[in-house]
Amino acid sequence: MKPEIICDKCSFEFLLDKLEIEESTVKRSGKIEMCIVQYFKCLQCGQKYIVVVYDDHLNELNRKYAALMKNHGCMSLTKFKVKGESLKKQIVAEESMLQHLYMKQHKSALKTL
Ligand SMILES: [Zn+2]
Repeated sequence: MKPEIICDKCSFEFLLDKLEIEESTVKRSGKIEMCIVQYFKCLQCGQKYIVVVYDDHLNELNRKYAALMKNHGCMSLTKFKVKGESLKKQIVAEESMLQHLYMKQHKSALKTL
């Protein structure tokens, strides 16, 4: 089932059937870097909703996590759990930090069309 969305701005209800992707930039620790933004728009008023923002660092963390999930035969269960959880925490923190930065830096682009 597709999730049903209610727009915060105009209260229009719609089904989320596809996410749009665009390349953008985000400034982080004084450096501008490329990022990929996944978002959707309200079908009625065009309000943009950010789903997730990725950059190289986050991709790297996700890659490490996927690799750990695939290949953990060589470590103890405790070590695996600790590693997995710490990576997951980093990923979550990174995601929310990037999203926050992006939204702060691209406020005007997020305004209703
Ligand atoms: Zn709307």
